[in-house]
Amino acid sequence: MRIRTQLQLILTVAAGVVLVVAGLAWQSRRAAHDAEAEQERSRTVARHAAALLLLTQEYPRYFEDRVAEQWRERHGALVVELGLPASPAGEWAGLDALRESARRLPLLFDLLAGLTEAPETAFTARRAEFLVDQMINETQGLADGIYRWSREAAAVQQAAARRYRWISVSSLALLVALLLGQSIVIARRMVGPLTRIERAVAGVESGDLSVKVGLDSDDELGHLARGFDSMTSSISERRDELRGEMQRRVASEQRLTDITNNIPALIGYFDADLQLGFANGPALRRFGVDPARVGEYTMRSALGDDVYAQHEPFLPRVLAGERVTLDAESVRHGGSVHFQVHLVPDVGADGRVVGFYAMTFDVTALKLAEAARAAGELRLRTITDHLPALISYVDEHHVIRFCNGTYRAWLGVDPSELIGKPLSDAIGPAVYAQRRAQLERALRGERVEFEVASMVRGASRHLRTEYIPDVGADGHVAGVYALSADITALKEAEARMSEQARRDPLTGLPNRRQLNERLDEALARSRRSGRPLALMFLDIDHFKAINDTHGHQGGDIVLQEFARRMLGSVRSTDTVARLAGDEFVVVLEGLNIGQEAEQVARKILGGMKPPFAVGAAALPVTTSIGVVVSGGGPEDGASLMSRADEALYRAKRSGRNTFAVSAY
Ligand code: GH3
Ligand code: MG
Repeated sequence: MRIRTQLQLILTVAAGVVLVVAGLAWQSRRAAHDAEAEQERSRTVARHAAALLLLTQEYPRYFEDRVAEQWRERHGALVVELGLPASPAGEWAGLDALRESARRLPLLFDLLAGLTEAPETAFTARRAEFLVDQMINETQGLADGIYRWSREAAAVQQAAARRYRWISVSSLALLVALLLGQSIVIARRMVGPLTRIERAVAGVESGDLSVKVGLDSDDELGHLARGFDSMTSSISERRDELRGEMQRRVASEQRLTDITNNIPALIGYFDADLQLGFANGPALRRFGVDPARVGEYTMRSALGDDVYAQHEPFLPRVLAGERVTLDAESVRHGGSVHFQVHLVPDVGADGRVVGFYAMTFDVTALKLAEAARAAGELRLRTITDHLPALISYVDEHHVIRFCNGTYRAWLGVDPSELIGKPLSDAIGPAVYAQRRAQLERALRGERVEFEVASMVRGASRHLRTEYIPDVGADGHVAGVYALSADITALKEAEARMSEQARRDPLTGLPNRRQLNERLDEALARSRRSGRPLALMFLDIDHFKAINDTHGHQGGDIVLQEFARRMLGSVRSTDTVARLAGDEFVVVLEGLNIGQEAEQVARKILGGMKPPFAVGAAALPVTTSIGVVVSGGGPEDGASLMSRADEALYRAKRSGRNTFAVSAY
């Protein structure tokens, strides 16, 4: 049960007891009071009866009217007193008899008074005596009755007073006992728990939050104890959290201090009056600020006049809440030191600038690197501008980002006008369409090389273009470097060399290599057209002897003249080639019939008839010819050559200066 409930119960019981006791006390008091009134009335009646008795005894002596009058008044008062209504406690049982007795007295007194009218006789005297005795007896009886009434009333009053006293004392005792008992119970319910609570409070006061009251009763103290325990638990948890938080903050602050002291930057804080509030280790060292007297420095005294003067123009802006960056310079160890300074306003909760942070970075190395980079870039640009190649950079969106000076030299366009232009606009949609596939391959990371013929200043030029992807560290291709070199001269030289490699230098005729190419082409054409093709194998007769007689040089002259005459004997579309030494081959195309080849052979033989002029000598030179005619079948060049060689052999065998035809 809750203590409050118990107290309420006690108070209710006590109030009930008090009410009952008060009721009883009031009742007994009332009874005592009634008894007292009854007693008082009986006493009054007794006084009237006593007076009446005296007047009854006095009257017969002189029969005075005054006495009679007094008797009647006294008797009337007595009757009135006896006739009063009964008290609530009830009426004394003998009272009716007294009233009856009192009612009889006036009859007797009237009879006695009547005798005063009658003549004084013995009878009258005796009758008067008789009446007086009767009245005295009656009055005495009445007085005795009244005395009993009075005594009984006194007894009743005393009993009522005793009862009242007893009720008062016993109810007081009951009340005290009840209150005492309940107080003991409550005290027992409260003292133990309160001691435990007190001990726990003392523990908490001494800082030990682990102390618990540990009450599990269901009353107010139990609730209070549980509330206290849960409060100390949550305070303890909160304290642990705060401790952790504090440790983290301390660690974080330490870290922050370590960072600010170890970052390669000078960090300072100035209030709105330019008074130094904080400076990190590097700043203290750089400006020679005494760490113990930081608060005594102003911005000017900390930085020095020169450096302060460079900051000063920017201070109104930062103090107006603007973030400002400035470059500053100072001389140190005889050299220039460059700084980049960031002034960051410290804006208070009310929006007013209460100070600012100054973060200063030494950018000397950066400046030098920047200067070196700019010089390097200039050098590179000068080189690229003078390189005989078009160099450009196209970004991933096909926009030109760089063009070297060669664009101006070769194409007559200002490179700066091309920069920022889409490639399609710069080179025109048609050329762009041709280059697009290669450009996209390069943008996918592939190095692409291709050659194109281009009109440069009105002349056709060969350009070898290379697209080199600009691959970042993450593999992303940001753009493409395009290099176009003019390889026209190279192409021409190449063509020349190729031509030379395919011609006999002595006679200027196609050599074996070119013959093989032409023969294959001619065979293909013959197969397509179905028209015969003839191959003639020629070998100068006794050439060794010419060499022997006229020297190698003489032999060369013969070879050159031989070639010239052969060309004169065939059509320009036919091929005349020198295979090696004094061996030649003629390929005749577009023949109508195979025999036409024999006519050409004869023509050649005829053409050689005039003597060859070698120096002063005129030499007779003949040749033997082996002829083979292909019928447009599957025969290849090597087989034709072999058959022609075989026919040549036969021609030589048959006496030279003739031709032999390989059987079809
Ligand atoms: P044959 O009638 O059987 O053909 O007899 P030949 O003397 O002509 O013999 P062959 O055809 O075998 O000789 C070819 C000679 O041509 C051999 C070589 O010394 C000579 N010769 C090869 N190349 C050249 C050259 O470029 N210039 C000169 N002058 N002579 C060459
Ligand atoms: Mg020969």
